[in-house]
Amino acid sequence: MTQSRPSTQTTPAISVQDVRFSYGSREAVRGLSFEVARGEVLGFLGPNGAGKSTTIKMLTGQYRPSAGRIELLGSDLARHREELQGLIGVCFEEKNLYPSLSGVEHLRFFARLHGVKDLDSEALLERVGLATRGRDRVAGYSKGMRQRLMIARALVNDPEVLILDEPSDGLDPVSAQTIRGVIREQAEGGCAVLITTHDMWEADALADRVAFINEGKLFALDTPEGLKLAFGKRSVRVRVRLASGEVAERVVELDGEESAEKLAQATRGGELLTIHTDEATLEDVFVRMTGRGLA
Ligand code: ADP
Repeated sequence: MTQSRPSTQTTPAISVQDVRFSYGSREAVRGLSFEVARGEVLGFLGPNGAGKSTTIKMLTGQYRPSAGRIELLGSDLARHREELQGLIGVCFEEKNLYPSLSGVEHLRFFARLHGVKDLDSEALLERVGLATRGRDRVAGYSKGMRQRLMIARALVNDPEVLILDEPSDGLDPVSAQTIRGVIREQAEGGCAVLITTHDMWEADALADRVAFINEGKLFALDTPEGLKLAFGKRSVRVRVRLASGEVAERVVELDGEESAEKLAQATRGGELLTIHTDEATLEDVFVRMTGRGLA
């Protein structure tokens, strides 16, 4: 496979072409196409049942698509499944840790499975904020610590593609923040990251681009900013204290060349107290596009 793998850095790390999957007669994924570049975090945003986990299971080679093609690092996943599985890092929602093993033991065990001989488990635990707890048994770990260990485990083979299913769902803020930091760091090192979430704040804060998925289909794919600007309302809300002492609130639509003049008019003749943008959230945009919310 190594020879046939395109060496160019411009090949998308993940390429999904018109992929479908059915559970019996129920079609869960209905013709999905998207790409993830090296160094990019793609957020897969959609409500429960949208088809996110099914897509992830196809990307990790657990399920075979009933139609379409998946390429990882330029190679066909259907033909090079095992080799590709060795190059990717995966973290699923299901927690499959061994309570009687320590954090370090988990990482060493996974390193052996991947044939990694020079693992610096201490450094990896440090990255996920578990440096002082690495020798403790996982039985005594909190939910957030377990999830951080799952992330560390996904990184033992220094993957070029990282696939994470709801990595910070229901976690304490510190663990969620740590995990987001590690994901960004990994992308900055050139890894392609695909993360599923139903949390619009997470998608907005973490992803370079966001894919909206609902009922097994892709509704939009753009930067969070692009999605909000294309479909959201663009306006600013100003509060001005008038000469009479009264506080007036005015909304200025940002919809053309005269926006600056309208904003100047709205603040004239008073003391400007506050300016807020009335930006749509990703959830607002999602509802407008799909007709349903993320909850
Ligand atoms: P998400 O991860 O976005 O919550 P899933 O990929 O888990 O969505 O589910 C997509 C659809 O496929 C849903 O309608 C779900 O009920 C169905 N589904 C998921 N897993 C199975 C399964 N093992 N057997 C039958 N249907 C399933």
